[in-house]
Amino acid sequence: MDVHWNEGSKDCSKNPQQPIQVHRYNADTFILRENLCATYEAPFIYLLIGKTKALLIDTGAVADAKIMPLAQTVISLLENRGSKLPLMVVHTHGHLDHRSGDDQFRVLPDVKIVPTNLESVKSRLGIADWPNGIGQIDLGDRVIDVIPTPGHYPSHVAYYDRQTGLFFSGDFLLPGRLLIEDTNADLASARRAAEFVEQRPVTYVLGAHIELDESGKVFLGTRYHPNERPLQLTKQDLLALPGIVSGFNGFYAKRGVYLLMNQNHILILLAVGAIISLVAIILILRALWRWLRSSAVPK
Ligand SMILES: [Zn+2]
Repeated sequence: MDVHWNEGSKDCSKNPQQPIQVHRYNADTFILRENLCATYEAPFIYLLIGKTKALLIDTGAVADAKIMPLAQTVISLLENRGSKLPLMVVHTHGHLDHRSGDDQFRVLPDVKIVPTNLESVKSRLGIADWPNGIGQIDLGDRVIDVIPTPGHYPSHVAYYDRQTGLFFSGDFLLPGRLLIEDTNADLASARRAAEFVEQRPVTYVLGAHIELDESGKVFLGTRYHPNERPLQLTKQDLLALPGIVSGFNGFYAKRGVYLLMNQNHILILLAVGAIISLVAIILILRALWRWLRSSAVPK
């Protein structure tokens, strides 16, 4: 994929940047990225256009249309094609950096937004048998498969575009941290996704963030991504995912290029560590105080 993503800046105030970078993958497929200076999450958003409908996957991390004119950008991309198609807005999952732009679309005509709760995802994306079934969205001569991938988030889904062979993996698989809330669900999702793509052509696996540089160093919470590695992962990376997640200790692990983390468990561990340290300090101070009192014998 021949694209250089904007790397943000060490000092965004001195280096104003376009809020959204648009990459035209082909005439009917666009990759949008919110600028690092507008949000350090810099999420990727995907627009897929069929004969009768357009599909937007995720709405990014910034709600304010003045800072991040996402709906305006998407609508003008659709209008530039000369046809007015209804738009369906879906998400990979419900974390705020993937749905903050929803309100920009709510006020528009001919737009339907699928909420991120599990009931809506199941019923609106046609997945009766969660998480083992596969849903479909028909955009008119372009069918998108919806693959349940809970683990990072309970109602997380991935999307597979039969036309381009692109697999949109959200935060389930991306070059960076794999944040896993539920290891068993995530491992089952990795196996499900690997099995799904095994007999299908996959051009690229496209996640929702890039958090690594070319040398494998992780970018964390920074608005400057020099030498960022490419967005795209491969079918082979997806096939290898079950082996990466399998045996994860539920806290932290470095596997291949990925950092596997369960942030909830790490927070609990830190809290327990802090409480133990506090109790130890109190006990030491109490012992010290008693010793001082007993050694201060009145004359
Ligand atoms: Zn997420």
